Amino acid sequence: MAENVVLSVMAHPDDAEFLCAGVLIRLAREHGWKVHVASMTPGDCGSAEHSPEEISRIRRGEGARAAAVIGATYYCLEERDLRIGYNEIALEKVVRLFRQVRPRIVLTHAPADYMLDHEMTSALTRAAAFAAAAPNFACDRGHAPALDHVTHLYYGDAAEGKDPLGRDVTPAFCIDVSAVIETKAKMLECHASQRNWLLRQHGMDQYVETMRAWSSRRGRPHGVAFAEGFRQHLGHAYPQDNLLGELLGTL
Ligand SMILES: [Zn+2]
Repeated sequence: MAENVVLSVMAHPDDAEFLCAGVLIRLAREHGWKVHVASMTPGDCGSAEHSPEEISRIRRGEGARAAAVIGATYYCLEERDLRIGYNEIALEKVVRLFRQVRPRIVLTHAPADYMLDHEMTSALTRAAAFAAAAPNFACDRGHAPALDHVTHLYYGDAAEGKDPLGRDVTPAFCIDVSAVIETKAKMLECHASQRNWLLRQHGMDQYVETMRAWSSRRGRPHGVAFAEGFRQHLGHAYPQDNLLGELLGTL
């Protein structure tokens, strides 16, 4: 039986806090799962005041502090903002991490989202879930042994719940995160460098309030204060049972 481990693979250091931190917190608190949080980049373009090196150093620290709020471990896979591509090097990094932490559940971005870094991360993570269980993939690269299963894979909400053409993306199910919203906010607050940046680039002040608004929008139709939306990858060879839903209950 695999250990109870969940891994989120998102593009940038604060994405997990917006999209799936509530679920990570609940798995840790209610079921004792080990939590791993990875970002593909250190967020090197997420600043108008610091150099790429400076902001990367700051944001790796913020990612680690946010993960530490719930006893999770943070990893940066050291790709670069706006340049995440679907290629062998990036895929191997994600597969190596899968084989190292050996997750039962993996969370990533929606396949269609507002920026390509998110879409590429989604594609890389989807491929890694399959490749990590293929013993011949990168078998000469010093990885931990291949997984003996394709991992349960879930896509979080696209930004603002819409795809790049503006169409609504409806979650297959939502998870109630009302009881853990303050901890989710505490994790997001660790990304202090992003408040000024988001205000300038996205016109978003008080980004913690924005996270609450998004979570509230997912909860409201189900009569709960806050929720997170997900879709499960159900392609051939991927697990078909909704493990995440069974553990936390679906709305
Ligand atoms: Zn992002």
